[in-house]
Amino acid sequence: MASTKVKGIVLGGTNVKEKDKIIKLYTLEKGPMSVTLKGVRGDKAKYKAAKEIFCFGDFVIEEGKNYSIVTSVDIIDNFYMLSNNIERYYEACAILDIVSKVATEPNTALFIEILEALKTLCYDEVGKYNVIDKFLISIFKAMGYNFITENCSSCGGKLGAKYLNLEIGEIVCPACKKTNSLPISDACFNALKILSNTEYDKLPTINFSLLIGNQVHYLLTTNYEWRTGYKVLSIV
Ligand SMILES: [Zn+2]
Repeated sequence: MASTKVKGIVLGGTNVKEKDKIIKLYTLEKGPMSVTLKGVRGDKAKYKAAKEIFCFGDFVIEEGKNYSIVTSVDIIDNFYMLSNNIERYYEACAILDIVSKVATEPNTALFIEILEALKTLCYDEVGKYNVIDKFLISIFKAMGYNFITENCSSCGGKLGAKYLNLEIGEIVCPACKKTNSLPISDACFNALKILSNTEYDKLPTINFSLLIGNQVHYLLTTNYEWRTGYKVLSIV
């Protein structure tokens, strides 16, 4: 079997046999991978911390024809403190769920962005949804949807009142909106721009009102559902 070393983030896993676990990794070098951790559910298992969601480290993997086995792990960070705050824990889970649904290829920018998002959620005092909302804006951009624009995506005219056309995933003017398009208030649009233009380590300086924060999150999660057919995980 060929041995390979990758940097990976654990997105989740499934228990198999008595003490094994198959974990899903998003790796820098190869994108998504499913790998087996042998005997890792035993109390004294050497790499048991590596089976947990969020774990980020260097994984050495023996790649076989049908399945791949982790032979060693060097943990860089397991973002353990996320489990101290249920809201941030769920936000971080939701981000990794999005990765597991949409990321099919290696993508260095995405890999770095996942780590920045987890770091911010774990170590900074950041407003609810700001991290996942910034992450969603990036995902849409990477999918090719231009979200933050002053012109209607359908007619090209200057935008006054703005609507999100869910069918095309872009912002349109009142004349081009459809019946199921979502209105975007100026405050909400402004918040989208701020999130898009602020680096993760500066997100703690942002403070939206509860109303605007919820509006932005609703808009982005609804758009995600329309674009992918999946729901964003939530606490309820
Ligand atoms: Zn228009």
